[in-house]
Amino acid sequence: MDIINILPDSVANQIAAGEVVDRPASAVKELLENAMDAGATSIQLIIKDAGRTLIQVIDNGCGMSDSDARLCFERHATSKIHRADDLFAIRTMGFRGEALASIAAIAQVELRTRQHDSELGTIISIEGSAVKEQSPCSCPVGTSISVKNLFFNIPARRNFLKKDSIELSHIEEMFRRIALANFNIAFSFHHNGRLLYDLKASNFAQRISAIFGLNFNQRLYHIEENTEPVKIFGYVGKSEYARHTRGEQYIFVNGRYIKHLGLSAAIEKAYNELIPEHTYPAYFVLLDVNPSRLDVNIHPTKTEVRFIDESVIFAILRAATKKALGQFSLANELEFNPSTEIDFSPLPKDHIPEAPQVTFNPTYNPFHSVGTQTTTHSDNNKPHNTRLNFDKNSQSFGETINEDDLSVVTLPTERVPVDKPSYSTLSFMGRYIIATLKSGIVVIDQRRAHERILYERLLSRRLSGPVSPQQLLFPVNCRFNAADSELLNELLPELQNMGFQISPIGQNTFVVSATPSDISDSHLQQLLEQILSDYKNNMMQKAGDRDKSICLSMARQMSVSSEVELKPEEMQQLVADLFSCQAPDCSPSGKRTMIILNDQELSERFR
Ligand code: ADP
Ligand code: MG
Repeated sequence: MDIINILPDSVANQIAAGEVVDRPASAVKELLENAMDAGATSIQLIIKDAGRTLIQVIDNGCGMSDSDARLCFERHATSKIHRADDLFAIRTMGFRGEALASIAAIAQVELRTRQHDSELGTIISIEGSAVKEQSPCSCPVGTSISVKNLFFNIPARRNFLKKDSIELSHIEEMFRRIALANFNIAFSFHHNGRLLYDLKASNFAQRISAIFGLNFNQRLYHIEENTEPVKIFGYVGKSEYARHTRGEQYIFVNGRYIKHLGLSAAIEKAYNELIPEHTYPAYFVLLDVNPSRLDVNIHPTKTEVRFIDESVIFAILRAATKKALGQFSLANELEFNPSTEIDFSPLPKDHIPEAPQVTFNPTYNPFHSVGTQTTTHSDNNKPHNTRLNFDKNSQSFGETINEDDLSVVTLPTERVPVDKPSYSTLSFMGRYIIATLKSGIVVIDQRRAHERILYERLLSRRLSGPVSPQQLLFPVNCRFNAADSELLNELLPELQNMGFQISPIGQNTFVVSATPSDISDSHLQQLLEQILSDYKNNMMQKAGDRDKSICLSMARQMSVSSEVELKPEEMQQLVADLFSCQAPDCSPSGKRTMIILNDQELSERFR
C-alpha cells in the first residue's frame, strides 16, 4: 500500500514558516529587508499590539508589476538569484524566496504596490496562502505590505508568544539592527500610534546616536582598517563603559547583522587587561567581505555566516580593535607577521598595563549616612566624596588609580562584631584574598565576595521598608530606547522603594532627582541600563523578583573591581563581612566566592 503523498503548498509553506517566522520580530525583519532590497530610501514600520494584530511596512522602493505581485507569494519566488552560482555573489538581504510565501501562509496579508512607470498599482489580499482578491488600484510608487493577525491559523504558535513588552523588545532589537546597518536609509517606527523612532538618513555615528542617545558617541572609539580580506569600519566602546551584560554589541557583514562567536571573541580579546573579567564592551562594527569569500546560506534567518578567510579576518579585527584602544599599531603586527596565521606575541616586557578604569571605595557601607562618616585620610580639610567614586575625570584613559580616591571613606565600624576574629590576610594578584581560619585557609574572590556583601545589605535595607532617597543637587537626565523606557516605567515603583526618584519627562527621557545615598550620580545612566538589562535577562528566563534583580544589578555596579589592591584592614573587613552574610559561599549570581582548604586537606596534600 502506498502511503506517501506530496503536501499541498499551503501546508509546506506553513512548515517553512516555522523556520523563517517564529515570532513577530522575524516577520518585521523579512519585510524590512525586502524594502531595502527594493532600493527604498525611506521605510516606515507600523506595528500594533507588538505585532500580533498588525505589522505594516511601507517603502518607496521599486515596487512590483501585477504579475510579480502575485508571484512573490509563491515559494522559491525570488528576483534576487537565478542560478546556484549567484549564491556566492549576494549583495541583497534576501535570496531564498520564501519569506513572503511563509508569511502569507500564517497571516492575512494585503499588498499594495506600484512601479514608477505604471499609472496604476496592484492590490492583492491573501490569507493562509489563498488569494482572496487581486485588482488594480491607485497607490504611491513603492510597496506597502500589511500583515494582520500573525499565526491566526496556528494557535499553538500564537500561544507561545510572550508578553507584549517582550515581543516589542524583540521587534525593537530587530529594527535597531537593520536601522544601524542601513544608516543611509530613513526609517520611522510607530507602535500603537506612538512614534518610537524617527531616523533621518545619516552617517553611522549619527545613526548610533539617534538610536542610543545623543551622548553615546562619547563612549566610543573609531575603528577603521582597509585590507584585502576585510574592510572594517565602526566604533568600539571605551573600556570604562564595559558592562556586566552583553548589551550593544553589533557586527554586520556586508550590511547583514550576524552573530558570530569568533568575531565577538576577536574584539573582546583586544580588551584583554583593560576591563574587569565578566564585563563586556559595546561595539558597532561594519565588515565588508568579498561575497565570494562568504557563505550566508547556512541558516534560514541568515544570522549565521561562514568566512573562508576566518583566521585572518579574526586577527585583523582584533588588531584593529587594539589599535583603536591605543594598544599597539596594526602596521607593526602585520609587518612582522606576514603569514596568514597572525600570531600576536605577548606584550613587551617594559609594557605597563593600563590600570583598571573604575576607582571607588570597596568597603563603603551603604548604611552609613554621610554625616556619620569619619575619614582616615590625614588631610581632613579636603572635601571628600563619600559616595562611590565613579567620577569620570579620575578615570580618563591611561591614568592610574588615585590613592586619595580609595582612602577617602573609612571602613565601616558599626557592623563589625565586637568579638570579631581578626584574620591575617594576603592579597594574591590583586584579585584573591587569602585568609587564615582556625581550621585552615580560605581563598576568596574579592569581587564576588564584595558583590555578595553589597547584595545582602541592599536587600536587607530594602526589606526593612522603603529606602529614604537622597536628593541630588543637580537632577540627571537619562535617555533610553523605547523598549527600555517602557520597562523602566514598569520598574518605577520598585526603584522608588529602593530610594530612587525617577520621573518620565517624555521622549523616552527620565529625570532622576534622588538616589539611594550610596549611589554616585555620575554613572546613573549606566546603572539604570544595567538594572534594565539584568531585569530583561531575568524576565526572559524566569519570573524574577524585581527587588532582588535591582539589588543584584546595584551590587554588581558598586562592587570593587577585581584588580583593585585592598589594604590589609580593608581585606580583613571584607572577610569578616563575607562571613557574616547569609549565603557567604556564592555570589548573588550564583558563582563560588571562596575555596576553603582545611587542615585535613592540607595534610593530605603534604603526605
Ligand atoms: P527574497 O527576498 O528571498 O527574494 P521574499 O519572499 O522575501 O524572497 O520576496 C520575494 C520577491 O518579492 C523578492 O525577490 C522581490 O522581487 C519581491 N518583493 C518582496 N518585497 C518587495 C518590496 N517591498 N518591493 C519590491 N519587491 C518586493
Ligand atoms: Mg526577502
